[in-house]
Amino acid sequence: MDKGKFGRLDRLVKEKRHDPYQSKEKFPEPTVCTSCGCVYSGGRWVWTEEKPEKANKALCPACRRIKEKMPAGVINLSGRFLKSHGDEILNLIKNEEKAEKAEHPLERLMEIRQDGDSIQVLVTGIHLAKRIGEAIRRSYQGEYSLEYGDGEKSVRIEWHRD
Ligand SMILES: [Zn+2]
Repeated sequence: MDKGKFGRLDRLVKEKRHDPYQSKEKFPEPTVCTSCGCVYSGGRWVWTEEKPEKANKALCPACRRIKEKMPAGVINLSGRFLKSHGDEILNLIKNEEKAEKAEHPLERLMEIRQDGDSIQVLVTGIHLAKRIGEAIRRSYQGEYSLEYGDGEKSVRIEWHRD
């Protein structure tokens, strides 16, 4: 029996259970996020106008990722094409976020880093990452690749066009 192997498996299972960013993590209902104000109700995080009176308070998984600088998705854009179309692409990214976030509060832009011929976009959810990547590929073609990490809990997208 390979004890080492099982030790590692135990650790993985434990880590999975304690993943603080799991969007499936259960909270008492209702819980209000102390940072963005979204509400955990009916087993998911939603935007709502009515704030429940006696609510549990916590940071939602998206705000926790932002605070701890732990993106779920990283999109690396590179190439000379960004010089002429950078602003347009940034607008596209922001519009995609707006649409995604309206329905799914945990899918948000975290940070956009620009540096010469490259743009790095950090997001709090893999769905938003894929949505942005697909939108850029659809609008601007280019070379595109997508790689999952962490048992599909994170995603890295590379896009390049000269
Ligand atoms: Zn929040």
